[in-house]
Amino acid sequence: LHFTTMPRRGEAIKKQRETCSVKSCDNPSVEVGLLGNNKVLCQEHLDKESETVRKQAADVSWKMRQLVPGAKRRAKMMKELQALTVEVQEVNEMFNAVQEKLQQWRQKTVDRLQLVHQSVAERLTDADEAETREKEASLALAAQEIKKLAELSKKNSAWLVDASKRCKDFNNKRYELREFQRDYIDAGPRAEMRLRLFGDVASGVQQFQSTIDDHMTSVMTDCWLDLDDSGDDIDDLDITPVSSNQVFQVNLQSEPKFLAACSNTAGFVVDSVGFVKRSADCTGRGNVKPLGAPCVFFERQTDDKQNILAFSAEHKNVLNVGCNFSSTSGKVTGLHCDSNRQQLFVAHRSTVTVTDLSGGLVKVISGSSFDGVSRSFDAIAGNSDKLCFLDLAKQCVFSIDKDSSELLSVIDLWPLHDKGIFFTDLALVGSKLLLFNWGVLESVLKICGITGQAISSLPDKDSDDDEEPVDAAARVRRLAIDSKGFIVKLTGNEIVISTGDDVFVDSFELPVKETGLCGHIERLELVEKDNARWLAFTSNRNRLVLLKLAYN
Ligand SMILES: [Zn+2]
Repeated sequence: LHFTTMPRRGEAIKKQRETCSVKSCDNPSVEVGLLGNNKVLCQEHLDKESETVRKQAADVSWKMRQLVPGAKRRAKMMKELQALTVEVQEVNEMFNAVQEKLQQWRQKTVDRLQLVHQSVAERLTDADEAETREKEASLALAAQEIKKLAELSKKNSAWLVDASKRCKDFNNKRYELREFQRDYIDAGPRAEMRLRLFGDVASGVQQFQSTIDDHMTSVMTDCWLDLDDSGDDIDDLDITPVSSNQVFQVNLQSEPKFLAACSNTAGFVVDSVGFVKRSADCTGRGNVKPLGAPCVFFERQTDDKQNILAFSAEHKNVLNVGCNFSSTSGKVTGLHCDSNRQQLFVAHRSTVTVTDLSGGLVKVISGSSFDGVSRSFDAIAGNSDKLCFLDLAKQCVFSIDKDSSELLSVIDLWPLHDKGIFFTDLALVGSKLLLFNWGVLESVLKICGITGQAISSLPDKDSDDDEEPVDAAARVRRLAIDSKGFIVKLTGNEIVISTGDDVFVDSFELPVKETGLCGHIERLELVEKDNARWLAFTSNRNRLVLLKLAYN
């Protein structure tokens, strides 16, 4: 047993007969070597080995010393570290101050609006009270209760002093504001009806985001370590031009009419024959692929048959959506997609068909089911809660609740008409509506979705340029607003991106050579997914294009 035990390192070899394990060496072995393998070595080779170990150790030591800067440099870096600690601390303090400042502005802005809100509410309360008091007095008079009448008159006179003053103040303020609007905005004599007394404060606040982004992007370049580390990525802070691999397009046999984009297609797939299906309906049916997002749904008419088709960047061909419309529903007049609900709303003149993304029927809304007035769905827009429709002939916008299909409001557009121009399409941005007129006017009108009064035109018309007629090509044909308030507008054959307060960000000509596009863009739809913005549009050259936009 003793002889079969392997010798351990450092242990003297007891087997004197054994020789050095180096091949060409016959010297008797002395000890197990230092470099492992449990090989026994003679004294000579042991010495050689320890020399190697010393050399290696010296080399490693030298390399390690290279990592230690000189005392001066080291002290400098220690200071730098200290400074960085303070910088981080100060940045946090500054952000606290900025947040506080922001909170102050929030309070100020909300307070100011609340004040206006309150003054209007007070005016209405006074009106109610005047009515009630007057009624009470006339009842007393009619009943010949002279004593009561005397009491009421005394009480009412006292109330009137204050109420009249409040009313006068209120009216004066309004009058001043109207005068201002007349002078500066050229709102014309019907300003009272046409212009809202308060602007789009919400979008003003929304635009602040892009101001913050712009400013902080440049501030970030001062964090030089970060810049150094990221190398070429610094370009990401700038606007990336749209490159050809971010353009997806299909050429169609006939012109695509209407367009809706969806950012949430989870649970929907494409089957082996190119139909969009619910994935739950396709289990065990072999070759299905996710529908992918963003996905564009569009309408196309062929031989009196209406089709809803789909297109996504992940499938290079057109997909079928199995919508079944009643033969009496007539032409499609608009499409709207709700990404959260994963529903498509297909408007016909007299009905709206609601389906899931695979065309499965959810419900049908009839134009005659509202307030006794037959309403026409000539254009559709929507947000998470409601649908808005334009009735062309009546020139009104009416909205209905998405859940209950009940009529919510009707906005008359006649007071907004100028030079007999009709509005032909609409979009919904928060509580505000955008009205389009197919490029007859040079701008798009933004109106209040509740009062129906005008708020502004987009882009803002520069009053200095009033005399110059706007070139037809420069007129805004379509316009979309993203969640940060950036405006994507289509003028002629160019797409221009600007911030909400009309500061130019980027523009590009539609890629004519690449896509063979020219002529007109008919529809434009902006869809956001995972912080990326996509623009989908149709052209009258029978093309549908999905384009990834890059801007901050
Ligand atoms: Zn040896």
